[in-house]
Amino acid sequence: MKKEAMRIGIDVGGTKIAAGLVSKSGQVTFRKKIKTATEKGYPAVKDQVTGLVSALLTEASAEPRDIEGLGIACAGQLDRKTKKVIFSPNLKWTDAPLRQDVEATTGIRTVIENDVNAAAYGEWRFGFRKEGSDVVALYLGTGVGGGLILQGRLYRGSHGVGGEIGHITLNPDGYQCHCGNNGCFEAYCGGSYIEKRLKQHLAEGYRGKLWQIIEGRMEKATVTRLEEGTLLGDALCNRVWAEIVEYLGSALQSIANLLNPELIIVGGGVVTGTKRLLDEARLVMERRAMRASLAGLKVERARMGNDAPLLGAACLIDE
Ligand SMILES: [Zn+2]
Repeated sequence: MKKEAMRIGIDVGGTKIAAGLVSKSGQVTFRKKIKTATEKGYPAVKDQVTGLVSALLTEASAEPRDIEGLGIACAGQLDRKTKKVIFSPNLKWTDAPLRQDVEATTGIRTVIENDVNAAAYGEWRFGFRKEGSDVVALYLGTGVGGGLILQGRLYRGSHGVGGEIGHITLNPDGYQCHCGNNGCFEAYCGGSYIEKRLKQHLAEGYRGKLWQIIEGRMEKATVTRLEEGTLLGDALCNRVWAEIVEYLGSALQSIANLLNPELIIVGGGVVTGTKRLLDEARLVMERRAMRASLAGLKVERARMGNDAPLLGAACLIDE
């Protein structure tokens, strides 16, 4: 019996590298995960990636020729033509030829994609393909990232760096964003920004219910505790929560009106760490959006978890 053709997916982030042997139908059969040697620089991380490929092949008793292709999801901006990693703040790289180097060392045809784009693609292909072909994925983690699937294809823009939904301006005079702009969606709804705001108020002496919930320990001021605070009627939590709901809802409304997708997928720690945020934001979207933009539109939680970038990269070899 002929074995199902396998491919390899690798997710290279600033803190960890995850790799897996993936079937075309999205089953991950063997997997490995290691800590990224970011501090040792690009050559060391590249060796980690090729080392993981060898380890997966050994474990699966496979040869490079048994593998259809290798997809890398990488944190950073890619050059549309050369596919070099132009800039990755997480990995501290500029102009890193990871795709070319991995392909040369392993002998396996290799593609590379930005990690958020790969995650969006993986979510769509394996979590939501039946739901439509115009789909937007949003990830509210420490920052806010997004990926666009338009007419069944990943949309990258003219120079390959499109889809930066986290950096659309929702308030021209708003909070400072890491990108240099003010009032970005990310500056309102990114987990690290939300926590920073809570901690700032606590450092300035705010007490109340939130202080009891976190037992006086600032490092425990997360979005989950924030939601608990709103349930207990904490004034600061209510204010911060209402702001996040309104801004997330406004972002969803902007996406609905601009792109008229069938589905918006929302994932990341800010959403998985809270119970009511997405439902409340959806109501804001429905209040603000034009009626025709809402027809048939679904807003769903991401389903593929941490595997999404790896799965997406592994199936982008078919593009
Ligand atoms: Zn920004």
